[in-house]
Amino acid sequence: MEKILTNKQIILERIAKACELAGRNPANVRLIWVSKMQDVSAVEAAIALGAADFGENRVQEALEKFLPQRPGISCRIIGPVQKNKLRKAVQVAQAIDSVADLESVQKLEALCEETDKNLEVLFQVNASEEASKSGLSMPEAFDFLNGLPEPKRLVYKGLMTIGKNTGNPEDSRVCFAFLRELRDWIFNSQPKFANFSELSMGMTDDLEVAIAEGATMVRIGTALFGQRFTILPP
Ligand SMILES: *Cc1c(COP(=O)(O)O)cnc(C)c1O
Repeated sequence: MEKILTNKQIILERIAKACELAGRNPANVRLIWVSKMQDVSAVEAAIALGAADFGENRVQEALEKFLPQRPGISCRIIGPVQKNKLRKAVQVAQAIDSVADLESVQKLEALCEETDKNLEVLFQVNASEEASKSGLSMPEAFDFLNGLPEPKRLVYKGLMTIGKNTGNPEDSRVCFAFLRELRDWIFNSQPKFANFSELSMGMTDDLEVAIAEGATMVRIGTALFGQRFTILPP
């Protein structure tokens, strides 16, 4: 708990400093606590320290930690979701940040209609063009987004990407800049994108570069919670 408090202070300072350098208001950069591979006691400790927005990679883990829902606490799914897990994702999450195909959009609309819910979605773009990462490829992203159906229960909120995994955060700058330009383009293109303001980019190693390039959410795991379990304790 004390460790998480110290970690939180360090991260908030990093965010504040990056915002200052970029001439941005830290209130416009939301901290997403990535609690994947952390147990529920870590989540509870984070909530006690004021964490409100969590990110989980796997739907099953999200269900275990975030149901029943706690008032004021949101869970975002930040990893790719198999079609047969979308129903459960809608049950537990306020947002899915990894959407990258039309069938998932259609299924999510239907599930939200059926369960009388609204859901925020971000579209994941594979801006680093690394084969190991999911998301829309850069060449297809614009046409895909442009062709999306009119949202009903869904709210198209913006874009998500994962930077390059080279060890040098500067290598991700062009990816992040591309994402910002794509977001601006889409936001200004059609009324269905009136809420398209979010850029989820930046993790423990590259949050400064992401903030400089306009991130509105940074997704931080290790630097807040410490090392992840590879197998969750019972
Ligand atoms: C694990 C993960 C993070 C957090 O990564 P850290 O390097 O631990 O901060 C952020 N985004 C996604 C999509 C992840 O899978």
